[in-house]
Amino acid sequence: MKELTCIVCPRGCRLKVDDNMEVTGNACPRGKMYAINELTNPTRTITSSIRVSNRPYTLVSVKTDKPVPKDKMFDVMKEIDKLSIEAPTRIGQIVLPNILGTDANIVITKDID
Ligand code: SF4
Repeated sequence: MKELTCIVCPRGCRLKVDDNMEVTGNACPRGKMYAINELTNPTRTITSSIRVSNRPYTLVSVKTDKPVPKDKMFDVMKEIDKLSIEAPTRIGQIVLPNILGTDANIVITKDID
């Protein structure tokens, strides 16, 4: 029996998953999906910031546009640390496609004129 906390919404249901992948404690179906994914193929959406090279002391927020495998999180963060961009930036603008061979892109999440 595994226990975990659902992070899909703020309610934070305490989930229990038995050896047959039967999930209990979830108040909605999303919790069951979360528990099964977390135990079979855990993924995370990563958020961070990168330098705006033509604006002193300016950062712009970025994120992965899809969750990436949890075991690649730190390698993805290292790749994000190497990035910079010139303003203007636009929400959804792709900074780095298919990071580390995944189907996720690093995208801008803030407009800077
Ligand atoms: S199981 Fe449903 S209600 Fe409970 S935390 Fe997850 S998403 Fe929210």
